[in-house]
Amino acid sequence: MTIGLPLQAPSPAGLIWQVTRNENARSDAERDEILSSPGFGQHFTDHMVDLCWSEKGGWHRPRVQPYGPIPLDPAAAVLHYSQEIFEGLKAYRHADGSVWTFRPDRNAARLQRSARRLALPELPEELFIESLKQLVALDADWVPSNPEESLYLRPFMFAKEAFLGVRAAKKVGYYLIASPAGAYFPGGVQPVNIWLSTDYARAGHGGTGAAKTGGNYASSLLPQEEAYAKGCQQVLFLDGEYIEELGGMNLVLVTDDGRLLTPESDSILEGITLASILQLAEDRGLKVEQRKISIDEWREGAASGEIVGAFACGTAAVVVPIGKLMANDFEIVHEGPQSTELAMSLREELTDIQYGRREDKHGWLLRLDA
Ligand SMILES: *Cc1c(COP(=O)(O)O)cnc(C)c1O
Repeated sequence: MTIGLPLQAPSPAGLIWQVTRNENARSDAERDEILSSPGFGQHFTDHMVDLCWSEKGGWHRPRVQPYGPIPLDPAAAVLHYSQEIFEGLKAYRHADGSVWTFRPDRNAARLQRSARRLALPELPEELFIESLKQLVALDADWVPSNPEESLYLRPFMFAKEAFLGVRAAKKVGYYLIASPAGAYFPGGVQPVNIWLSTDYARAGHGGTGAAKTGGNYASSLLPQEEAYAKGCQQVLFLDGEYIEELGGMNLVLVTDDGRLLTPESDSILEGITLASILQLAEDRGLKVEQRKISIDEWREGAASGEIVGAFACGTAAVVVPIGKLMANDFEIVHEGPQSTELAMSLREELTDIQYGRREDKHGWLLRLDA
């Protein structure tokens, strides 16, 4: 069924959305079965969003269509030169059944920054937000109702032009898919072990570290395997002697007098979870220092008792305390209640806001289903 009319209000960008319902959508029973144990990134909703961009036509043909394979020419530039970017945010169901998302303006702005760095076209913020609303209009039943669960939204954009010459593509696609996400720590939040990668970097100055692009992840996979082999769940990357971030999460150190330290670098991805956690900390009157932090500062601070804990943060896992940093020839251990207290209380405050259990003083939430 194709409806040549927008499902909701006409697009602010003046585009007409074409909506094709999935005739093979999962039944209520099938969806409930999936939602009873969603895991992460394994199941996808019944629909997806798809927009085209061309040098001549700009952004056009916005569609919501059945979830399914994307036809791609084998010469599509993305398959050869990795001209690709993505985003990650969540839809949260509140107690009254309404569906909300968190700071999507930040994701829209970051997608634009990533686009500039990867020589991709910038998607206007209105179209980005509208893509979220259009998908949720059809797939709202996929937003879980259990506490700590959500619908993970994955916008992405890539070079579709079939051309093996090396230049920015003149044909690009923007897509949005969604995947129900269970609680990241089903048994309760547990501190993780981190491996310090000294043989590999994920980014360099002037590179793409500050852009959310698949290539950064591709280069983190080998060190990630090394981390698993060492019994660690994540990798910490360095820029020389300075700490940067994990493969997909930002890093924060906590001092004994309640300061939060986080690395400053032009090759770190600017996390929205990080920015929000730092804001909540400042609201509590805590001091935040964003500056260069050497691995020795962390080591010595942990030894002297000045640095009492560390945590990683990102949309998927929210806040994860770090119990141990393992390196080739040393370890940093954070244990005891003081090492996780602040991280856990900031985590709770943030998730309370996201799930509508606490006042949204900063106006961070946007309703998606109305
Ligand atoms: C997405 C991402 C983060 C976390 O960003 P959030 O906006 O908090 O989800 C951190 N580092 C990298 C490399 C990322 O790709």
